[in-house]
Amino acid sequence: MTNADWDGVISALERWRDGLKAHDETVTTVPSVTTVAERYKQDPWAVLASTVLSLRTKDAVTLVASRALLEKAPMPAALLPIPEDEVARLIYPAGFYRTKAMNLKRIAAILVNQYNGAVPADMNALLELPGVGRKTANLVLIEAFDMDGICVDTHVHRISNRRGWVSTSSPDQTELALREVLPKQHWKPINALLVRYGQGICQPVSPFCSRCIIPDGCKQRNVSRRR
Ligand code: SF4
Repeated sequence: MTNADWDGVISALERWRDGLKAHDETVTTVPSVTTVAERYKQDPWAVLASTVLSLRTKDAVTLVASRALLEKAPMPAALLPIPEDEVARLIYPAGFYRTKAMNLKRIAAILVNQYNGAVPADMNALLELPGVGRKTANLVLIEAFDMDGICVDTHVHRISNRRGWVSTSSPDQTELALREVLPKQHWKPINALLVRYGQGICQPVSPFCSRCIIPDGCKQRNVSRRR
């Protein structure tokens, strides 16, 4: 793919997303963590906590859980005296809320003890935190520190492989492979665009290829059923 090809794909996805919004004002086109980042002025702790909460959790639930948690613990030190059970109650019904409560407490303790209460703006340091993988770390670097990163979830991984942009077997591998081929100006927006496209058109089991707005060049790898 040339830079112009990438520009064309991204522009088409943006127009499609904007069209959805124009037809239905209730459609959310901004991921929950981005909303939290804007609400808390890119505060790194708010972004990290909401990113942890967002894993396997719907956007609406992430927003409510983030607000409840950050009201009680606007900084890592404030989370330390709150019992784990109470943290779990605050963030319920976020997916895996008990595990997340435990991880958030452990993360807060590490930040206080090792980083003077700050969130490190460093991929390797973030990956050392409990429950933080590359997807979470990239999102924190992008949203809190305005650094370059590619956030790869199941939709980005699936669509990138279907189209033949990459040939990988895990989201982490896809992120590293996309870093080699995707022009940097598209790193940040590609996640939200492909998540929305993967939910609406390029669905996991049977994609709507007949309605695809970016069919050119798609290899449809491992697509056995399509509509
Ligand atoms: S042509 Fe089908 S498989 Fe390829 S991106 Fe479009 S919907 Fe997905």
